Amino acid sequence: MSTPFILDHVTILSGDREGSTIDDAMIVVDSAGKITAAGPRAGIQKPAGCRYIDGGGRFAAPGLINAHAHLFSDGKPLPAFMTSEKAEHLVAKFMHSKPGELLLNKRTKTNVLTQMNSGVTTIRSLGDARYEAVRVRDAIERGDYLGPRVYPSGPLLAMPGGHGAPQIALCSTSPAEAAQQVRDNLAAGTTAIKIAATGGVTDAREIGQAGTPEMPEEQMRAICETAHEAGIIVAAHAQSAEGIAMALRAGVDTIEHGAGMNEEIIALFKDNPNSLRGSSALIPTLQACLPLVKLDPKVTGINEIVRANAEMIYEEMLAGIRDALEHGITIGMGTDSALTHVTHYNTWREMDYVHRYGGLTRAHALHAATQANAQLLGIDAITGSIEAGKDADLVVLDANPLAAGFRAFENPFLVATRGQVIQQPKVKRFADLDAKLDSF
Ligand SMILES: [Zn+2]
Repeated sequence: MSTPFILDHVTILSGDREGSTIDDAMIVVDSAGKITAAGPRAGIQKPAGCRYIDGGGRFAAPGLINAHAHLFSDGKPLPAFMTSEKAEHLVAKFMHSKPGELLLNKRTKTNVLTQMNSGVTTIRSLGDARYEAVRVRDAIERGDYLGPRVYPSGPLLAMPGGHGAPQIALCSTSPAEAAQQVRDNLAAGTTAIKIAATGGVTDAREIGQAGTPEMPEEQMRAICETAHEAGIIVAAHAQSAEGIAMALRAGVDTIEHGAGMNEEIIALFKDNPNSLRGSSALIPTLQACLPLVKLDPKVTGINEIVRANAEMIYEEMLAGIRDALEHGITIGMGTDSALTHVTHYNTWREMDYVHRYGGLTRAHALHAATQANAQLLGIDAITGSIEAGKDADLVVLDANPLAAGFRAFENPFLVATRGQVIQQPKVKRFADLDAKLDSF
């Protein structure tokens, strides 16, 4: 139960592709946290006994949906000695100990709340160390504290020695073993499934490793079939045309990061008989590479191998976005938060990047983060836009991001998550990192 409220004198941003707005609007929210009316104020009867919030001519956007998050770290750059293979194994060992588990619980809670206080009201995690995001989701749903909607993946599913292994992955070597890991993750309470289809940037040990296919198609197929039987969509980390084609044929629902497309890939995105809902979507996550490409390696502290892979994958992601735009493929939005240089309060930068570097209109970028993400996650009946019948997931901003740019999301006037209002939400920022990100 929450306090019913009226948010008066706002411009509602619809989150559609065209950037439609409703001027001089009012939003009414009931005690169940649902929107009962949203539209021009002249047409709405003000219910009695409601808390009244004057929007003062501000802009109400749908709560953002981050469809690709990690929650185990705060996104500050790691010191170079922490990125060696040896250090990664030591970190993995610690994360799987009891003190490590407690630390992960705490960090995940902090990071989820940081996302909420910066306007993200729904998070899909895609690669957790263990089940810390499940525990945080459960605490939020029990009402232990106010938080966003969380769809946790638990550990991602990978090949031995492949991307994500060993820190945040379960490894399998056969379709049957992979299918069992899906069942194990679902039994542990996850509501998202993630595959590492190809190598990645941050843990690559040689140039060209990012994007190299890793998991055989039949193994991915077993994962998709098992997840789809439970009504859960599957995300695949895939950074090359070859890896993407295999993942789409296997039935993957969202391709994470992406690459330039061929005809088969374009056709499969639009009509994918093995996917859960008949089509698949692209979630680019430019933030995972852009800072590593735009900033001097002396500043980012990454080694030559990571830098070379980041450059290659950045170009591939841009090509993927171009092809998706040209062929009308659904583009969603995810930040890859927790990776180096990707904080939990900088979700707005992803929309800014897909607009400035990816060529999406501002309206399309906001659409990706709201209505499109809600549709591809199958939650558009409850969130993704400000409409009667949906949960009151809102971010109220001083400026219109479609005109003034996405930095308008930096200091929201108000966030509402399922009808619970947070006024003047505050987050802890890393000033030195932000200064670097502001330099390009
Ligand atoms: Zn990721």
